[in-house]
Amino acid sequence: KSATIPNIDGSVDRIEEDDEDDVVDLAANSLLNKLIRQSLVESSHRVEVLQKDPSSPLYSVKTFEELRLKEELLKGIYAMGFNRPSKIQEMALPMMLAHPPQNLIAQSQSGTGKTAAFVLAMLSRVNALKLFPQCLCLAPTYELALQTGRVVERMGKFCVDVQVMYAIRGNRIPRDTDVTKQIVIGTPGTVLDWCFKRKLIDLTKIRVFVLDEADVMIDTQGFADQSIRIQRALPNECQMLLFSATFEDSVWQFAERIIPDPNVIKLRKEELTLNNIQQYYVLCGNRKDKYQALCNIYGGITIGQAIIFCQTRRNAKWLTVEMMQDGHQVSLLSGELTVDQRASIIQRFRDGKEKVLITTNVCARGIDVKQITIVVNFDLPVNQAEEPDYETYLHRIGRTGRFGKKGLAFNMIEVDKLPLLMKIQDHFNSSIKQLDPEDMDEIE
Ligand code: ADP
Repeated sequence: KSATIPNIDGSVDRIEEDDEDDVVDLAANSLLNKLIRQSLVESSHRVEVLQKDPSSPLYSVKTFEELRLKEELLKGIYAMGFNRPSKIQEMALPMMLAHPPQNLIAQSQSGTGKTAAFVLAMLSRVNALKLFPQCLCLAPTYELALQTGRVVERMGKFCVDVQVMYAIRGNRIPRDTDVTKQIVIGTPGTVLDWCFKRKLIDLTKIRVFVLDEADVMIDTQGFADQSIRIQRALPNECQMLLFSATFEDSVWQFAERIIPDPNVIKLRKEELTLNNIQQYYVLCGNRKDKYQALCNIYGGITIGQAIIFCQTRRNAKWLTVEMMQDGHQVSLLSGELTVDQRASIIQRFRDGKEKVLITTNVCARGIDVKQITIVVNFDLPVNQAEEPDYETYLHRIGRTGRFGKKGLAFNMIEVDKLPLLMKIQDHFNSSIKQLDPEDMDEIE
């Protein structure tokens, strides 16, 4: 499959293999989030803490100084532009840096400062003078391991003798190599291989074990078991830390199997809401009609930036071609692109280089573009059973009204899809008004 911008001649419309729904790839989404992240994600919720020993005092810190870190590490933190601990770090860091070490399971959405926290814990516990692996971090993919490694390198910039090594497929280490790097980051399969088969890492010398992105990890066949085999060979005094962006039961069960006697920290996600969003629908006969209605809306109101969602790649491409031919500046974000390509498209959109982003469900979640004023459902989100996909609807539309701003959402509806829309309206108990696309004055 090629990953190219659609041809202007419209030929892409005939490519059958592209006519598929984009499935959500957890690891790719997570990487994308990291690539496009610019700052901490806020949550108005309180951090919930469950201590393994409820009688022990609970510490939280408001500054990094209070943590009594090595000077070179504190310098590294400030060089990254961090002024104070994030919400989750306020609670997590004192536990992670405590003596004797405590185990921790922490859950909060991506962007809340988990990686920075465990990198700090690894860097503060490592003994730079000892030339063997002391910290081991498991990540679900090669690319995610590299991202974490970059954070270690940035934060550890002034910890000159501390080095990172990647236990990932493709990183070929000659036989009988003496691994002298103190921090090893890798995927479970390769780490297992390095520990047991090739004996490059002596697990009994590991002092900090991190299992990152537990939810993504258990989504990959075999990774949970491999991680547990690694964990079982660690010494008792090794500190064990697990992080996850989500906490379904399956993640929780895995976490409890792999982390003995943990403290637990949770930070709930900001809930999405449709409250401050004006929702409209336009009845249309077919795809061409929908496009015409879209053009009318586009011409009728002043639009900052818009995201348009399509159900299939094929529809997304078709629409992109139509809009380009009509002289609009649009970009297409769909699942056939590499994560790097997606990141650069989102960045261009954020920078305002394109006013319209057309996408499939790959982009329905998690990507914040603050200046979006309207969201268009060119197709309603439906699941396999052709029932409304309420979650996805909320994720698509809920993005516009964030940050206290008012948002506008338009649904392009073929007549036979109207019952689906009515179900969505009932489900959220929020009104979706019909709009005559010839008469934009109705928009409040
Ligand atoms: P997570 O692992 O939960 O996804 P990260 O640790 O990657 O979160 O942090 C998200 C973003 O916020 C990153 O760009 C990171 O550099 C930044 N960040 C983390 N901690 C802080 C902090 N205390 N102050 C400012 N920025 C921070």
